Amino acid sequence: MVQTRKSSRVATGSTDNVKETQIPSKSRKRSTLDEGSTGQDKSSRTKRRKKDELETPSYSDRVSSPWKIGAHVSAAGGIEKAVHNAAVIGANAFALFVKSQRKWTSPPLSPDSIEKFKSQMNTLGYSSSHVLPHGSYLINLGNPDEEKREKSYQCFLDDLQRCELLGLELYNFHPGSTVGQATKEESISLIAASLNRAHKATSSVVTVIENMAGAGNIIGSLFEDLAGIIRQVEDKSRVGVCLDTCHMFAAVSGFSRVSNVQLTDFCRAMIYRLKKAGISDFDTHIGLSYLRGLHMNDSKTPLASKKDRHENIGMGHLGLRAFHHIVTDPRLQNIPLVLETPSFETTEIWTKEIEVLNRLSDLHGQDESALLEGLSDEIKKVVQSKSNSKPPKKSGGGARKKRHNAKDSEEEDELDEA
Ligand SMILES: [Zn+2]
Ligand SMILES: [Zn+2]
Repeated sequence: MVQTRKSSRVATGSTDNVKETQIPSKSRKRSTLDEGSTGQDKSSRTKRRKKDELETPSYSDRVSSPWKIGAHVSAAGGIEKAVHNAAVIGANAFALFVKSQRKWTSPPLSPDSIEKFKSQMNTLGYSSSHVLPHGSYLINLGNPDEEKREKSYQCFLDDLQRCELLGLELYNFHPGSTVGQATKEESISLIAASLNRAHKATSSVVTVIENMAGAGNIIGSLFEDLAGIIRQVEDKSRVGVCLDTCHMFAAVSGFSRVSNVQLTDFCRAMIYRLKKAGISDFDTHIGLSYLRGLHMNDSKTPLASKKDRHENIGMGHLGLRAFHHIVTDPRLQNIPLVLETPSFETTEIWTKEIEVLNRLSDLHGQDESALLEGLSDEIKKVVQSKSNSKPPKKSGGGARKKRHNAKDSEEEDELDEA
């Protein structure tokens, strides 16, 4: 246990004060246009209608729920676009990159972009505590090579400063890798030292460490790794943890003894990994008050694979039941629960996954297999139709997101080189 701090977030069962949905309505705008159109010639009316349709976004309904479900959306074309992209899929939380995740440096955020981002957050009713920006994939604060680590630190600090400019509270990053040149303990101390330095150079953003699948020399597949970092962080109010369900499932060790048992239940799987239910064990090792978000990913590869391969919800080895546990667990309310599943360049898949997960929250104590199977099928149908009909784009923001999806699986391998 790192430090016991009672969280006010835990098990309150209450919703927060976020303005849920103040979304401009397409139909409302259209009727205003019609009223004002008397006396206009038909072609200008048609033109205006066309323009209005282009400019008026179509948003999915957002349900009011204490479980804040969303996805890692694209910020291509301006950081403010991310807020819009979240609203389009009915997300109550979202993740984004605050700069290109594969470049060491990017142009600064323009004051105009920052202003638009903040105003979109306000208009669309998002709370900054439900936004979980994701750090650059290049950053490795655990690298024993001083020059390389300094380069990572500068990139990390720049990310944190961007978050603060945008009024965001959280920042999620991968802990790092020993690159085979240091012991785990040495790298853990280097990571903690960078966090302490970054906390002094910034004012408020909370650095949220992500658990990893456990490939190569990567740090963070064990709760003990994360606890080891947190223990050495001076300002405990500036550090948190984000749990990725796929990474947790992949990182399970010692499973060979029961290799013939087919486990799809997240909690049962975690028994092998953690001796008891995953979240309770997290509380014992780290402390629930540190849990600031979840990455909601099913896994393409089986338990203990040590591979980071995200699958759509209910279509992988975790299964929908695992996610039912999550979205009915009161300890996981009011933190961002973010999908990083394949979207195939469409909005429909995430919209469907979010809708199904929100419906699962209402199935208290009813986890009948048939019901869950039916809901899984709903997701599967959308995924199958969209993955067949939409080939990946060659350029633009969509392509960038596609790369995130495809490459996300390789992010650990990549980090191992950094
Ligand atoms: Zn990640
Ligand atoms: Zn991953």
